[in-house]
Amino acid sequence: MSRFFASDVASMPSIQCVGPCCEGLSRRGFLKSFAAAGAALAAPTISSAPARAQGKRRVIDVHHHYYPDAYKAYAASEQRLAPFGKSWTPSVMFDEMGKNNVEQSVLSLQTMPLNIYSMKPEEARTIMRRINEQGAQLVRDNKAKLGLFAYVTGNDVEGTLKEIEYAFDTLNADGIEMMTSFGDKWPGDPAFDAVFAELDRRNAIVYFHPISPICCGNIVPGVPESWIEYPQDSTRTVLSLLINGTLARYRNIKWIISQSGGMLPFIANRVEWFTRTALKNIKEVAPNGVMAEFQRLYYETANASLPPTMASLLKFAPVSQIMFGSDYPYVTSAYNLDGLRSNGLSDADLKAIEYLNAEKMFPRLKA
Ligand SMILES: [Zn+2]
Repeated sequence: MSRFFASDVASMPSIQCVGPCCEGLSRRGFLKSFAAAGAALAAPTISSAPARAQGKRRVIDVHHHYYPDAYKAYAASEQRLAPFGKSWTPSVMFDEMGKNNVEQSVLSLQTMPLNIYSMKPEEARTIMRRINEQGAQLVRDNKAKLGLFAYVTGNDVEGTLKEIEYAFDTLNADGIEMMTSFGDKWPGDPAFDAVFAELDRRNAIVYFHPISPICCGNIVPGVPESWIEYPQDSTRTVLSLLINGTLARYRNIKWIISQSGGMLPFIANRVEWFTRTALKNIKEVAPNGVMAEFQRLYYETANASLPPTMASLLKFAPVSQIMFGSDYPYVTSAYNLDGLRSNGLSDADLKAIEYLNAEKMFPRLKA
């Protein structure tokens, strides 16, 4: 099956990619399809009033993309550099943050071109290193405003271990970013165990950004992969880590799952029920129960902060595990904040999600 990239969508007359982190779309096409989607979908709607009313409160964004030159060059070479990425500059980013009182953002890369998993390891290592060095420089120049998730591919274990060492010991990264799958494997695969053993030894924060599985991002022709497959792949990642015992073995890692956990809150009870009989080593991989494993993970709310999604997440995970994310520049901070603030949460819970939980996760960012 040939892969269907979001960039392919841009050449189609009636369908445009409007999902998070999708690529190759035109601004005009985005607005046109967004308007059409809005006309067809009556609810929910939110106003910008809540964000303005609470706009004085500081916000920390843990799903915030940046586009260093090394990333731009690589993504452009793969025809995967979105218009948002081309026009990104630090000043544009800081303007967006300032307008929404986002005082700090932890930088990460958007979905990586899939070819990173099939190229020669030394080539991928060079790309990782250049990107991370440029990210670290940006953070050094703006220490009070930015944190950094250093990117690693994961599938090249030797190169990943070297980059983890460099990221923490030389670049002082705040955490590690990986995609939700590494080509044709998911992170819980035993092939990657040494990577998580090392991250556990370092008490690392591990942030998973969604990607489509290499097999089949175009199951439904015409539907961009980011709409459905990204949240699905976040879900696969967690289940891969669960059933392979990675979550149980490495208790020191703080795991952050994107976009309110993808499908996980919705299917968690279904999974928990089936694992009772299907997993013979259930006590080993989930010593306190499957739900307890899920509920000690962290979830960020990028493009998943509106009431229908949050209704599930808030019943699923404690507020202490939830942090604000935007998916900037694909989704605006205002849209995410308005959505979050329309959930009827208490002021204490909103503060926790908007910045207090992130301050606990990243003490360096504490005001
Ligand atoms: Zn993203």
